[in-house]
Amino acid sequence: MGENTKYIFVTGGVVSSLGKGIASASLGLLLKQRGLHVVLQKFDPYLNVDPGTMSPFQHGEVFVTDDGAETDLDLGHYERFIDRNLSQRSNVTTGQVYESVINRERNGGYLGKTVQVVPHITDEIKSRIRLAAENGEGVDVVITEIGGTTGDIEGLPFLEAIRQMRLDQGHDNVLYIHLTLVPYIKAAQEIKTKPSQHSVKGLREIGIQPDILLCRCDRPLSQEVKAKIALFCNVEERSVIEAIDAESIYHVPLKLWKEGLDDIVVEKLRLDAGPPDLDEWEKMVHKIFSMTESIDIAIVGKYIQIVDAYKSIIESFTHAGVANDIHVNLRWVDAEKIEEDGPEKWLDSADGILVPGGFGERGTEGKITAVKYARENRVPYLGICLGLQMAVIEFARNVCGLDAGSSEFDPDVPHPVIDLMLEQHSKSKMGGTMRLGAYPGILREGTLARELYGVDEISERHRHRWEVNNEYRERLAAKGLVFSGLSPDSDLVEIIELPGHPYFIAVQFHPELKSRPMRAHPLFRGLVAAAKELSRTRAQGEGTVAAGRDG
Ligand code: GLN
Repeated sequence: MGENTKYIFVTGGVVSSLGKGIASASLGLLLKQRGLHVVLQKFDPYLNVDPGTMSPFQHGEVFVTDDGAETDLDLGHYERFIDRNLSQRSNVTTGQVYESVINRERNGGYLGKTVQVVPHITDEIKSRIRLAAENGEGVDVVITEIGGTTGDIEGLPFLEAIRQMRLDQGHDNVLYIHLTLVPYIKAAQEIKTKPSQHSVKGLREIGIQPDILLCRCDRPLSQEVKAKIALFCNVEERSVIEAIDAESIYHVPLKLWKEGLDDIVVEKLRLDAGPPDLDEWEKMVHKIFSMTESIDIAIVGKYIQIVDAYKSIIESFTHAGVANDIHVNLRWVDAEKIEEDGPEKWLDSADGILVPGGFGERGTEGKITAVKYARENRVPYLGICLGLQMAVIEFARNVCGLDAGSSEFDPDVPHPVIDLMLEQHSKSKMGGTMRLGAYPGILREGTLARELYGVDEISERHRHRWEVNNEYRERLAAKGLVFSGLSPDSDLVEIIELPGHPYFIAVQFHPELKSRPMRAHPLFRGLVAAAKELSRTRAQGEGTVAAGRDG
């Protein structure tokens, strides 16, 4: 534990959004497939303690781990690529680092010393890196991605800490990888290396000499360009790796493997590891590119301008598409547009409908209308978290005839079919007051949920405050709503479904957080399968009509 662990640090330069998260996850996959135990970690230089309180417009999706940490969406990529559940140790923010240093100071933990960024903040950062290696399973490699771009003021303590790590751990136990941009400038018709030179210069000024450069580019880099980058950035020529744009993020590990990235890493860190086994992964990627048939799924949400807000859902559909051998087109529908124009205009011809999680009242009436449309027109429906709450409200209103709603939006609603649980009533602080992380659920025999999962007991990740109000369960059930998944004490509703509908299922948790490329989540797989069937039936219907006309 710890002693033999190797540490890889991934920094980024020139501009943000170069895909550092995917690059880190890809390297994690390559090393894992060489038989190494890999853990990934992300440092976020912002002062928020976690992204839980940030708007999705700011931050994109909040990824929740089994142990209930609200983390950066890059952790989703990590888990999906290395197929391993990570913990709260895998996401560290400046806010967390300062919080623990200040708490220690208040408790007299620094024995009268002046508390400073160096060494106290940097020591705390280093201890968080080492903690990631201590999961009791003998971690071979920790890959730590440093958020932000070199040159950012906020990132400096992290860079200083990782600089010290090589002195602390020994030269061969630490590796620095820098992801940079090598742009093609149209006017000059030339690939430019200057931004990379500047970015590496900035790193070297603070004492970090990268060992490997990942050069993000939109066209192949010639040996000449690589040699130039190598010379000016003081990096071996073979360690200048082309990271060319890929059509699918799942293709990136294969491209980096072809460039020899993992070979160089293994050699430089003196790791004992055979060649990677990438057969299954290659098959999966091949399938992504070769699927010809397609279906349309409408996602009715609030943050649809920011696709990052629904990252894991998008990936879950890729996995479910591969599992069903069909390409899934996602149609992003603004819930407020449904309020303005009615559902037909936006949902017509969709083969499936998904209402994702969300907070706040805006757009909820549109979502409820979308649920009604799916229920009445027998369009496959999957509701996630708020999407379950919307489905319960819709059913209570339109099938049970209740003036129903959620107390989240209207504390005085006559029939609060969605309400706070008793212990949640007292909470007033915003951060960390939700039901978060993995909770068990028991599936009822003979239900669609039980059939899809193929097991009696499940564990799924949660992030919400409101629940189905137990006082209404009987009335809803009497009209045909089935509570197919419950908490072990039967106190909380986890899954609802509508028998007789081709596919109508909604869950209080977030299945998208547990879908993996080679193991699509059963609920997404089921939705895509049902949508595929509807799409084929429709095509046949059109065929018959056309044939009729011909005749
Ligand atoms: N706003 C709802 C709640 O807090 C739903 C949350 C969600 O969809 N993640 O319960």
